[in-house]
Amino acid sequence: MDDHPPVDPAVIAAGLRIIRKRRWFLWSLIIIYIPAVWTSLTLTHSDRATAYFFGFWLLLLIIAVFFVTTCRCPRCGNLFHMHGVTPLYLRSCLHCQLHICEDKRR
Ligand SMILES: [Zn+2]
Repeated sequence: MDDHPPVDPAVIAAGLRIIRKRRWFLWSLIIIYIPAVWTSLTLTHSDRATAYFFGFWLLLLIIAVFFVTTCRCPRCGNLFHMHGVTPLYLRSCLHCQLHICEDKRR
């Protein structure tokens, strides 16, 4: 892909680090969901407390999705995970195919 102006590799690495951090946070939230609900039920024995917990978790999830979706590609400047109105959480930029670990391949 040479139809983009060259971007400093350090800028690309810094941008990709932010994207990876946000993705990691989102996936952690999703993975933690079932054990967290189970722990909440076990500790509180309360559906209501667990429902509040779920609300809190959902809020965090919405925030995490928002931050991942609004990540900008450090190379082409487009939204890394958005093509038109469709979010796709792939490991490459949907516009210039910059891989999320591109900076580690050098
Ligand atoms: Zn891109």
